Amino acid sequence: MIRQTPVMRICISCRKTYDRKNLIKITKDHKQGIVFQKGMGRSAYICMSEKCYSDSKIKKKLQKALKTSLKPEFIDIFKKEITSYNDYSNKGI
Ligand SMILES: [Zn+2]
Repeated sequence: MIRQTPVMRICISCRKTYDRKNLIKITKDHKQGIVFQKGMGRSAYICMSEKCYSDSKIKKKLQKALKTSLKPEFIDIFKKEITSYNDYSNKGI
């Protein structure tokens, strides 16, 4: 099996480069609105470290990256999404 070169993306919070599959992709889909790990449109990536997703400035950073305004409840949804992916990775799925 040929090992493919990982796709590298930058976390919008810590600005570190990670393998795409270790990041959560947040996309402003033109039909569905804000979606996670799917959708077509402007997107931003964030790593799964608590320091990054709990950052008080993360909403601002996302709004800037996605060029949109996010609803106040977005952060709750966002944190739930990330913690659910964290659960998967802890279980090794
Ligand atoms: Zn980060």
